[in-house]
Formats: sequence, structure tokens, C-alpha cells
Amino acid sequence: MDFQKDFPILKSNVNGKPLIYFDNAATSQKPKYVINSINNYYQNYNSNVHRGVHELSQKATNVYEGSRVKIQNFIGAKSSKEIIFTKGTTDGINIIASSWAETQLNQGDEIIITTMEHHSNIVPWQILCEKIGAKLIISPINKKGEMIMSEFKSLISNKTKLISISHVSNTLGTINPVKDIVEIAKENNCKVLIDAAQSIPHFKVDVSKIDCDFLVFSGHKIFAPTGIGVLYVKNDRFQEMKPYQGGGDMIKDVSFEKTTYNDPPHKFEAGTPNISGVVGLGSAIDYVNKIGIDKISNLENDLLHYATEKIESINKIKIFGNAENKASVISFNINGFHPFDIGTLLDQFGIAIRTGHHCTQPLMNFYNIPGTARISFAFYNQKKEIDYFIDSLKKAILMLG
Ligand code: PMP
Repeated sequence: MDFQKDFPILKSNVNGKPLIYFDNAATSQKPKYVINSINNYYQNYNSNVHRGVHELSQKATNVYEGSRVKIQNFIGAKSSKEIIFTKGTTDGINIIASSWAETQLNQGDEIIITTMEHHSNIVPWQILCEKIGAKLIISPINKKGEMIMSEFKSLISNKTKLISISHVSNTLGTINPVKDIVEIAKENNCKVLIDAAQSIPHFKVDVSKIDCDFLVFSGHKIFAPTGIGVLYVKNDRFQEMKPYQGGGDMIKDVSFEKTTYNDPPHKFEAGTPNISGVVGLGSAIDYVNKIGIDKISNLENDLLHYATEKIESINKIKIFGNAENKASVISFNINGFHPFDIGTLLDQFGIAIRTGHHCTQPLMNFYNIPGTARISFAFYNQKKEIDYFIDSLKKAILMLG
């Protein structure tokens, strides 16, 4: 089935060639259905939420809160109260660092992350550690790009308070065994945050099954607009969280003597939220549900295997990230060429790929490389696009000599 017809941008030409969009891990394209829903909000019921008795405000509030329920169901949360709207993955992690970890961790406590984390799952913890005197512990990976579980277990002690781990590596595609990680964490009484930025668009993520404490993702990677994201907080954790920002909507009652706070999730959504973003995210979830996340998963797996085989057959190419369990991301380098040059030449063929460190510089240091070229698929990509990419890549290699 041709899903590309749902995405207006995929009909465009780039540098005189039909666009081939292989940069989905950076951000996904948006279907007409999502674009229209945002348009419809601004044209027909633009209004602030939770504030007005008037018709428009009630409609906006209903759609806004309706999106929360859609997300609750999509990720298997027990209650829509466990869904907090954020700006994105980075925002969600920073909220947990400030709102939960800063009050729950003490000097000398430890947070475990892995070598493959995105900067947004490294730097907030570094800032926190500096502030409270906690320690960041790095769980190592093997050359295939998989966590070494025996080493991970050996790093856990009674000082470990939080494990913060990507579900899927944006650079390697590795799918981490988050359910096992949560089980190990629970035996040791530590909490777990899952960075689901790269898993949520690609396969079923169920917080009840994973049983994590926190989970974050960005709307823009799952066909919704930028500037909107989700922070899932297990209900048990709320009493340990202080407000992140103060302002409208997060309060019950304000006086100069004493202010009381609203209940979660609104306690953590101060100020006028990104209403159109929430509308768009709700529509994106509808769109994904209509196709079916398992179908999306199968289509992408097929593309991953097809492309991996073709890339491996090209001389001098090395793929970074050969995990047994992998999502539709392929990072590679070609001996002797800078990834930037490969990316620039492919752009001339209308192919959008990502080059550089992918916000995972410590991972680049692990492999002792400055960066990689990365292609990443969404379900709307096609095998014929991969064929064209392989031909273009071969041409680029010849051109670079
Ligand atoms: N974590 C991972 C694994 C990611 O891939 C990304 C985005 N590249 C982020 C975090 C940060 O997401 P955002 O920039 O949308 O906040």
C-alpha cells in the first residue's frame, strides 16, 4: 500500500529530484490528517483550555483532554492523569531531573545511563549531579552496540536510585531490554526512566507491561508537530515530585500567604500549553492506530533487512550497530570518506540523510570516530527508494574517488 500519498511533503522535489526522506529518526514527516487537524483547530475552535465557559474554550478543552486519553490508551497507562504534556523528550527528562530526582536523590547517590545515550539523557543528569553531589555511572556496551547486561547488573548497588535508559538508540538502532532492566531495578529498589523517543513511532510501547516509573517521548518523531511531547509518570511517583514551573493552571488556590497546587497532571503543566500541538499529537495517534503499530513495525523491519543486506554488499562500508534486536536505523561509514561529504552528495540526488555525531558524542568516542552517515526509515519508505539510494551511494563513492 502506498502510504506516501498521505504525506504531502513526500511529493516534493529536492535539487530537481523526487525527495527521498531517510532522516526519520531526526523527525518524521506529517500526514495531511494531522496538518488538517491543526488547521481546523485554528480556523474553527482556537481558544484557551481549562479557562472559559464559552463554547470554543470547551471544545478546545475537550479535544485537548481527549488527546490525553488517546495517549493513555496508546501507551497502556492506567490513567490519563499519568500523561503530562511537555515540549518533547528533552523537556520530559529535564522535568524528572528537577522535579523528582532533585528531591529524591542525595549526595553520593548514583544514576545509571549507558554509553549509547542521546545528549538529552546525559547532560540533565550531569547538571543534577553537579548540583547535589550525585554520581553518573555509565553502563558499557559491546562493539555490536548492545548493553552488556552482566556489567550493568554489577554496577547496581544500594546507592543506585535511578536508571535512565533509551529504549532504542537513535544512532545504532539497538533495542534495549527495558523490561528486564525494570525487573533488575525493582529487585534493587531503584526507579527507571525510559527514553522512548525512538521506540514509540516504531513498535508497541506498553508502560503497564514495561512497568517503568517514567517514560518520555517527542510528538515530532511520531508524525505530530514539533514542540509537543509526553511525560508518563507512574501514579506512585507523583507524591515525590515537586512542581517544575509555577504559573496559571498548575494551582488550586493562590494567595500571598499560601498557594496550593492543582492535582497531576495539571500540576506539571503551568501556563497556556501547546494546544495545537496536543491536537496534532492526538490526530497522529489516531492516524497510527488506523494503520496499526504492528503493521508499521513489520513494514519497517522489512525495509531494515532489505537495506542492511544491500549496504553490506558495498565495499569498504562499515555499519555501526549490529544488535540482534534492532529498529530501522542504519549508521555507517565508508572507509576514507567523511560522512558529511556522503550526505552532501546524496542531497544532490534528492536523498535526505543525517550525518555527524547524532547528539551521541560519547558513543562516537567509544567507536573512536567523529561521526557516521545515518539512514532511518519510517513505514512510508519504500524498497524502490532504497534501491535508488544504493545506486546514488555507489555514484557518490565514485565521485569522491
Ligand atoms: N533521545 C533520543 C533517543 C532521541 O533520538 C532524541 C531526538 N533525536 C532525543 C532524545 C531528544 O528529542 P527532542 O530533541 O525531541 O527533545
